[in-house]
Amino acid sequence: MQSTPTTTNMANQKEYTRKREGSSIAKIVVDRDLCIGAASCIAVSGETYELDNENKAVVTGSDAVDDATLIMSAESCPTKAILLFDKEGKQVFPK
Ligand code: SF4
Repeated sequence: MQSTPTTTNMANQKEYTRKREGSSIAKIVVDRDLCIGAASCIAVSGETYELDNENKAVVTGSDAVDDATLIMSAESCPTKAILLFDKEGKQVFPK
């Protein structure tokens, strides 16, 4: 299904809060313009992401996996559509 074109130039990013205990990552962002539905993130961490009906990754389990796995899933994305932020709002991936 084609997504409806929008008239805004704003980045099409979706933010997901992470509250996993002991984690240094507090926010996961998926850039829907960059996501090409390659599903590598899901191969690494199916507990964290799903593809929606536009074939874009959405976060369904922001607290599901440890930091190492989450970082690996972001690293696996061919278009770097997954961004990770720490509690201070600093971007930790991509560096
Ligand atoms: S790996 Fe990247 S491009 Fe592929 S579905 Fe996940 S976020 Fe989208």
